[in-house]
Amino acid sequence: MNALHFSHPAMSALVQNKASVWLREACHAAGKAQQVTETEATGARQRFERFAPVLASLFQEDGWDGRVRSPLLDYPSSPADVGTFLIKADHTLPMTGSIKARGGVYELLCHLEMLARDAGLVEEHGPLDALLTEEARALYAGRRVIVASTGNLGFSIGLVARAFGMQAEIHMSHDAKSWKKNRLRRIGAAVVEHACDYEQAVGRARSAAKGAGGYFIDDERSRDLFVGYTTAAWELRNQLAARGIEIGPERPLTVYLPCGVGGAPGGVTWGLRFLFGPHVIPVFVEPIASACVFVAMAAGGGAALSVYDAGLDNDTIADGLAVPKASQLVLDLIGHDIDAVVALPDEEMLSWVRCAWKEAGLRLEPSAASSFAAISYFLANLGDGFLFGRDLTADHVRRGVHVAWTTGGALLPDAEFERLLA
Ligand SMILES: *Cc1c(COP(=O)(O)O)cnc(C)c1O
Repeated sequence: MNALHFSHPAMSALVQNKASVWLREACHAAGKAQQVTETEATGARQRFERFAPVLASLFQEDGWDGRVRSPLLDYPSSPADVGTFLIKADHTLPMTGSIKARGGVYELLCHLEMLARDAGLVEEHGPLDALLTEEARALYAGRRVIVASTGNLGFSIGLVARAFGMQAEIHMSHDAKSWKKNRLRRIGAAVVEHACDYEQAVGRARSAAKGAGGYFIDDERSRDLFVGYTTAAWELRNQLAARGIEIGPERPLTVYLPCGVGGAPGGVTWGLRFLFGPHVIPVFVEPIASACVFVAMAAGGGAALSVYDAGLDNDTIADGLAVPKASQLVLDLIGHDIDAVVALPDEEMLSWVRCAWKEAGLRLEPSAASSFAAISYFLANLGDGFLFGRDLTADHVRRGVHVAWTTGGALLPDAEFERLLA
């Protein structure tokens, strides 16, 4: 490891296990990956539309129309003195109760559709009612999806795959909570428990998929998964417009995005950058112990480094974010678009789990509450002068619109949630 890399001032607080903020200092060119195209992003929104009647029929949640959408909420107070403060409530997303309904699930939908097309049950870009037929169930019953997870991705893929009648093999790292594994087993998913971290669990799941046959959903390397998350940006744009909020040079948009491997915050960032250009400020939020995108940006120059190399231990209560190494694909696709990364102690997240419940009745898991916790750290570190190599000052940023993205929690069982509140 090149010691020079660790000389970045933001790294010195981090390696002492202290909250730290990394800010982009200049504009950067795009990475070397083949960039996501507008056509791919449009295709994802259209695919979700086509799936809506099918999902509504399989997941008969109260009056749900099958659209994977979450509300944009007001919050009774603001965690800092800012122009406008709103909540993008992905913790209430249908099916999974987490942001995984947009990305991980999207890749699964792509695969389900492809299997049906290959079997002649549906046509490209056509209606998907046939996915609910006996023929489709027979087809899916013979197919298996395999995924590795710290909890939420496996939980989400397992729930949706089983709803279609597909076999699901879920490889869980040691972080995964028992209730998620139990629920998956109850619905007939195979849960394989590993006494190792997320990165190693991915490796083992990948080998299992090669050996036994099955479709491996690769959270670290999947383009479809990333593209699925971009759809959230269009949704947010419409919701802001419906409130008469116009994003622009005088009113920039800052979004606080909880980050694990980077796929979810990365896809959202891609979409928001596409729609709002320089007027959006994506802030990725991580637990100190698992600050893998932080380390990649501050010490790796955009290359994925392991948090273990920075002396961090990847031990956090934020199980949705307990990842030691960022996705290199994500860094290549949107590393140049990340304006800031905030690394926070677990206590801050826990304290916001309690606050958001008390003040607004939001049922959040620690990973999701990290978005609230990040705001004051971010604002306190902006300093004077122009920011991010753009025509933006701290004052501009502060007076703009701030959106905390609450990425998961609505499906937490009461006992689990009470333990967090205690
Ligand atoms: C998965 C997840 C994230 C982050 O997603 P990545 O794609 O791993 O960066 C954030 N919050 C919650 C609750 C999650 O489940």
